Amino acid sequence: MKNSLLLHGGVGSESSLSALLREYAKKAFDNKSSLKSVVDATVMMEDDPIFNAGTGSYQRIDGTIQMDAAVMTETGFGSVIGVEKIRNPVKLALDVMQKTPHLIMAGDGALRLARMLGYAEYDPNTKKAKDQREKVMSELNSNEADKNPRFTALKRMGDISKLMQPEDTVGAVAYIDGAFAAAVSTGGATPMLRGRVGDSPIPGAGIYCGQKGAVVATGYGEEIIRHMLCISVYNDIGSRRLSDILEDKASSFEGPVGLIAIDKKGFSYFSSKPMAVGFISSETG
Ligand code: ASP
Repeated sequence: MKNSLLLHGGVGSESSLSALLREYAKKAFDNKSSLKSVVDATVMMEDDPIFNAGTGSYQRIDGTIQMDAAVMTETGFGSVIGVEKIRNPVKLALDVMQKTPHLIMAGDGALRLARMLGYAEYDPNTKKAKDQREKVMSELNSNEADKNPRFTALKRMGDISKLMQPEDTVGAVAYIDGAFAAAVSTGGATPMLRGRVGDSPIPGAGIYCGQKGAVVATGYGEEIIRHMLCISVYNDIGSRRLSDILEDKASSFEGPVGLIAIDKKGFSYFSSKPMAVGFISSETG
């Protein structure tokens, strides 16, 4: 297989954004490093407010923004959970992998690490995020909410206003110079409580990478974690066509789900709703 990089803009992202993702893939593609390629591509998507990662991340029910991100290679893993007030969570996940003896850093400790490493204070909030939260809050208070189990569970917890104290995931996989890498970054899946953790920073759930390939997922993190989706896909690599594996694993999902994956023979993606993807290889340019 030629050196390749594949990106996604989150399940539910408009397919018309695929042209933009291809541009990002082209810019980020580094013919020598799969890790650099996936991280650089994810940084570009984090910096684009269209996507629910970095700038443009969705707000929690209390109005705060907490972001999760991860990177994985065949030998290393790093992730951050619930980080606030930094611009590029995926860079911090890379630093966790490369500069600390740990694999996962969360909350204020992750933030302290970021500041120690020189990450500037940054507010990822956007008008899009504020509008989106307002929409979610009015949905939560409507009868429509009763049709959606995610909303119903939150409503059952009591007066949602008590949660209101002061208040489209991206991913990349690559196979370059004989090595696989994966990266993912998200503002989470709304509606969500402060402190909620999705699949993205959990190895095997929202991201997995090994000698057979690299896999990244998007969708409701809770369901993805229950299925340990990415390692489940990874374990089947080599047993049948990659596209068949993705479709098969995702078909049992009730909620929206998307997957991108790459192995030594090629790449594939699958989503139950529209999903923007961008691909580049040393062959196609
Ligand atoms: N999987 C992400 C999460 O649950 C959200 C997404 O893929 O859009 O945090």
